[in-house]
Amino acid sequence: MTSEPDISRSLVIKDLSVEIDGREILKGFNLTVPKGEVHAIMGPNGTGKSTLAKVLAGHEDYTVTGGQVLMDGIDLLAMSVDERSRAGMFLAFQYPNEIPGVSNANFIRAARQARLPDGEEIDAVAFYKEMYAKMAELEMDKSFTGRSVNEGFSGGEKKRNEILQMMMLDPKYAVLDETDSGLDIDALKVVAQGVNSLRSKDRGFLVITHYQRLLSYIVPDIVHVMWDGRIVRSGGKDLALELEEKGYEWVKEELAA
Ligand code: ADP
Ligand code: MG
Repeated sequence: MTSEPDISRSLVIKDLSVEIDGREILKGFNLTVPKGEVHAIMGPNGTGKSTLAKVLAGHEDYTVTGGQVLMDGIDLLAMSVDERSRAGMFLAFQYPNEIPGVSNANFIRAARQARLPDGEEIDAVAFYKEMYAKMAELEMDKSFTGRSVNEGFSGGEKKRNEILQMMMLDPKYAVLDETDSGLDIDALKVVAQGVNSLRSKDRGFLVITHYQRLLSYIVPDIVHVMWDGRIVRSGGKDLALELEEKGYEWVKEELAA
């Protein structure tokens, strides 16, 4: 990692404080993810990992009470959910929503269409060709294109579908919230391969996970430990192994010391 990240090519989260129902969940959260890097956030349940992810995506339930988020120097928090997505922010949800009545293919197609200049139409043949190729990479059956988004999908199928959306939307920054939960080891490898295929100098990843296991397949540049609404430790990929071995109680004890 460079000592001074280029703000115009980074996702910068500064002193972010967030409340829900009057309760403070993020308490002055700081993190910079430069393009080209994969950062992992690990932490116990209830520490605010999903809150962070959803605030970045623009979820309306959360109130930002302080701080800033800059995506390549642009104020992300001032943008609508749609604008954020079109500007290149992508969130793979921990609990993906079902959208009855909207086919998977039409959902992704509409999102792609929204990224085109006015008056330009998606080339349907090329679109399906590309989508089928990506589904093959993710070992997803073609029949998933015609099914309603996530409706009746198993936990693992929903997670693969989130990665399919990510691959099709080509985001600048991708936040993956516990994409490993609900996946067996074979599915985990397939999903990780999908993510790794998108690693590039022009994209940043924030990979949120409770377990080290995912990070054996998506090897992060930096690992952050989150505790009670903020990052309390950062290190290299070995920090994940150390955490797995010693447990989160270790961090708590260190903080108390
Ligand atoms: P993590 O993803 O690290 O497990 P979350 O961000 O999901 O943590 O939750 C952090 C805290 O915020 C928890 O105490 C949780 O109960 C609370 N919280 C999150 N979302 C909501 C919500 N929609 N309504 C009320 N409380 C919430
Ligand atoms: Mg969570």
